[in-house]
Amino acid sequence: MKIPFNKIYYSGKELEYISDALLSKEINADGKYTKLVSKHLEEKFNIKKLLMTTSCTHALEMAAMLVGIQEGDEVIMPSFTFPSTANAIMLHGGKPVFVDVLEDTLNIDPIKIERSITNKTKAIIPVHYGGVGCKMDEIMDIAKKHQLYVIEDSAQGVNASYRDKYLGTWGHIGCYSFHGTKNYISGEGGALAINTDDEMLIKRAEIIRQKGTNRFDFLRGHVDKYTWVDVGSSYGPSDVLMAMLYSQIQDIDDIKIKRKYISERYDGIVSKYIDLGKVKSSSYIPRECDSNYHIYYMVLNSIEDRDRVITRLAEKDISAYTHFMPLHTSDMGKKLGYRGDEFPVTLKAGDCLLRLPLYTHMKPSEIEYVIKVLNEILKEL
Ligand SMILES: *Cc1c(COP(=O)(O)O)cnc(C)c1O
Repeated sequence: MKIPFNKIYYSGKELEYISDALLSKEINADGKYTKLVSKHLEEKFNIKKLLMTTSCTHALEMAAMLVGIQEGDEVIMPSFTFPSTANAIMLHGGKPVFVDVLEDTLNIDPIKIERSITNKTKAIIPVHYGGVGCKMDEIMDIAKKHQLYVIEDSAQGVNASYRDKYLGTWGHIGCYSFHGTKNYISGEGGALAINTDDEMLIKRAEIIRQKGTNRFDFLRGHVDKYTWVDVGSSYGPSDVLMAMLYSQIQDIDDIKIKRKYISERYDGIVSKYIDLGKVKSSSYIPRECDSNYHIYYMVLNSIEDRDRVITRLAEKDISAYTHFMPLHTSDMGKKLGYRGDEFPVTLKAGDCLLRLPLYTHMKPSEIEYVIKVLNEILKEL
């Protein structure tokens, strides 16, 4: 039996909605499906304003512009993340300041955030690893005390919550991904959530997204022609992609429940080997969190163990993957002045973590097969 790491989920309505979008001839940004998706998610997650974007990477770039990142500004973020989190800041002359993550969730450590604040700090970017929320209450308190912006990199956190409040709605701004590898997909796609009452911020976000024009005001009939009013770019997704996404969000909670079942089955066996000391840790969901089960990971005791498990799984046609290479150990991280030996928890996750295959419509026989093979491999560690 061949088990890929990921498989795209189809709700079955994709082609119907995509052809409807094509036939309606509204295939640019902000057509019918863009409106349907943003309205649906605004209501479900209780978001003040959600703007659909071409990617989470672009939503993060918009966020950097919206909070006014400039040359010399520092932004605190984990090193255990995707390069987009840091690029968004650097594109505007800002400097990413990396801190370590917590051992249990691999999410940013609030104590380390506070210790890294200087008079140049402008914002904090927590990243919700695997769809498990960061300690957002503590992070928001720190931000308030030091008057900093919070931009959530909630690329992996769609439809998950912390203390009954959806991820992406805690910070001033939240960024989501609908990339083909995430839980809810449009191939490429994202969204920017604005969670403040600042109407000017919302207006600026609309302008930045529309090539620096006030096209939104024009579409609303507030002005009779639109014009260039600020700097901006092109961050609106095609309505064809939003038609795809709309089909996915019909099943938004069903997808979560199916992934939860698979994660719990994995947990049933992996926890046995944690007790035996053969596995160091695995995906952990604190009581305050409702996960979307984006990832199921294990942290092994050594890099050799991790690589051995991946190889042995591959021999049985099961694809398991490592994950983030800590940004401070990358070539770019070195250019930023990091030695590469900082942040022990992050280094351990970079070296010893593996992700098991997890896709929404994994068949019972596929789940059983992975569990059986994994059991045999872990027993021999
Ligand atoms: C996937 C991901 C991104 C990038 O999302 P895109 O929509 O592909 O641009 C950014 N940050 C994190 C943490 C991610 O997992």
